[in-house]
Amino acid sequence: MDVDNSLQQEIRSHLARLRWYLTGLYRGGMEHWPARTEAADARRQARDDSPQPALPENPPQNPAAILSDIQQELGDCKRCRLHATRSRIVFGEGSPAARVVFVGEGPGYEEDQQGLPFVGRAGKLLDKMLRALGETRQDVYICNVVKCRPPNNRTPNNDEVEVCMPFLIRQIETIRPRVICALGACAAHNLLGVSKPVSQLRGKIHYWRGIPLVPTFHPAYLLRNPSQKSAAWQDLLEIQRLARSG
Ligand code: SF4
Repeated sequence: MDVDNSLQQEIRSHLARLRWYLTGLYRGGMEHWPARTEAADARRQARDDSPQPALPENPPQNPAAILSDIQQELGDCKRCRLHATRSRIVFGEGSPAARVVFVGEGPGYEEDQQGLPFVGRAGKLLDKMLRALGETRQDVYICNVVKCRPPNNRTPNNDEVEVCMPFLIRQIETIRPRVICALGACAAHNLLGVSKPVSQLRGKIHYWRGIPLVPTFHPAYLLRNPSQKSAAWQDLLEIQRLARSG
């Protein structure tokens, strides 16, 4: 009987996730950056107004074990064509209790070789930015929209994102950070369901299922456009503020 109940529960939860994913309800509300004193009110308001289903009231008891289960379920994934050209799956790295989750587009060459996210030149820049905030990659969680490297680092196709993204969603649901940072257009567009350029999305707090989401430039873009580093730094300071504001 217990086994039946737990199976039913699991099926119900899978169906709820699937329904939510298929109806594209991960689109976020959007607000201009509120002043410090207004941040909590703005978050509460956005949560109330959000068309997205709320996260379950109680956070998961053992996020590390759940992340490990998700990784096991992903297994030697061949759900999309990207499996054919990858060397390693890049699941994600960092603290299961992270206050900040960084989401990038997909693994590049170095990431594909090492099986770790953001370890190439762009990753070194991200590390530097984290250090400047007094954080390390062990304090945060870093992952991508797709977990296998697209050939020649092309942007992932919609069908590839569609099959891979439910795993990312479950990672974020499990970690339940105080703030999500979308690094670049691919992460921002797919988490928010919008298509504006990052330059128009950044500078505002968006919401993913009630969690503040701050879009900023991808570190690879910053390497090519160093003049945008100061804007990205402002975004990181905002992320730091949100992460500390409980
Ligand atoms: S990108 Fe995602 S869905 Fe596609 S093969 Fe890799 S892990 Fe599986």
